[in-house]
Amino acid sequence: MTHTRVLIIGSGPAGLTAAIYAGRAQLNPIVIEGEPSSTTDQPGGQLMLTTDIENFPGFPEALTGPELMERMRAQAERFGAELHVTKVQKLDTTSRPFRAWLTDDVEPSITADAVILATGAKSLMMNVPGEERLLSHGLSTCATCDGFFFRGHDIAVVGGGDSAMEEALFLTRFANSVTIVHRRDSLRASKIMQERVFANEKIRFAWNCQALEVLGSDRVSGLRVRDTSTSEERVLDVTGIFVAIGHVPNTALVQDDLELEDNGYVRTGLGSFTSIDGLFAAGDVQDHVYRQAITSAGSGCIAAIDAERWLESQGL
Ligand code: NAP
Repeated sequence: MTHTRVLIIGSGPAGLTAAIYAGRAQLNPIVIEGEPSSTTDQPGGQLMLTTDIENFPGFPEALTGPELMERMRAQAERFGAELHVTKVQKLDTTSRPFRAWLTDDVEPSITADAVILATGAKSLMMNVPGEERLLSHGLSTCATCDGFFFRGHDIAVVGGGDSAMEEALFLTRFANSVTIVHRRDSLRASKIMQERVFANEKIRFAWNCQALEVLGSDRVSGLRVRDTSTSEERVLDVTGIFVAIGHVPNTALVQDDLELEDNGYVRTGLGSFTSIDGLFAAGDVQDHVYRQAITSAGSGCIAAIDAERWLESQGL
């Protein structure tokens, strides 16, 4: 069993920024990064699934999500953070120190004086027939991961936010056509992303369309939709579907213990303080409003400073 003063769970921009700050405060944090095989809590978080990042200050030329995360990881290690590519199976938030299990053993693997929860969020699904069955068989939540397999296909991207626009633009590199399927008649995405999709000749729009069913026996062969203004149903003739309709926070480790917002995100008070003394939250697991790499990194910094001061106040 290892004891640490600060255990950081998650290795997106929040977790790794917390690790850089806690490392520089000589707290020798342990970071549990997540599992490489997972599409929901993989090391590096959601940025591992994105393409160019153009709005992270300090990088006037875009860099990719994985590149940014690799830099953050190296920076955290430089200041003494110990990173482990694995998953926390269970967290006991009632004991002091906190206890975390990385295996099924009876004994915990790690004890920690303070915990920073930076487990991020995962993709929301449409919850329509055919979706689960055809996931990875023509239906995907990650264009960066799977776009290459859709060369020459006609594709639907469901959603009207920045993620959907980003996915649609990326997919035009491979696809014959991309149809953005949105439940309203105006996009939620930022103006600059809207301009880019409207200017792209491969991108079409299915406005006011609600997805009803993913069609196909062993691969996607269409998307059945309903026009929300006329109630008419039709089938979009697509062989690929990318779902980009938002996210849900990864709170499974703490959902029975911690106060959550009505929408399931971790409730933080001032800074990163949660309803559990000594447990701090940062990044997308507690932020459903801004959800940017830079705000996530900022909240990781806040959590590390809060944790450092809290440890000091407790004489730990
Ligand atoms: P989002 O902004 O919450 O947009 C989700 C979209 O999906 C909305 O258009 C929403 O429709 C639609 N939607 C939600 N539930 C649906 C359902 N059940 N069926 C059909 N459509 C549904 O999520 P996001 O696009 O993932 O972006 C999240 C945050 O990350 C935002 O702050 C965004 O700016 C940021 N982001 C930024 C970039 C970038 O700067 N390049 C890239 C990606 C994400 P309604 O509009 O009708 O609600």
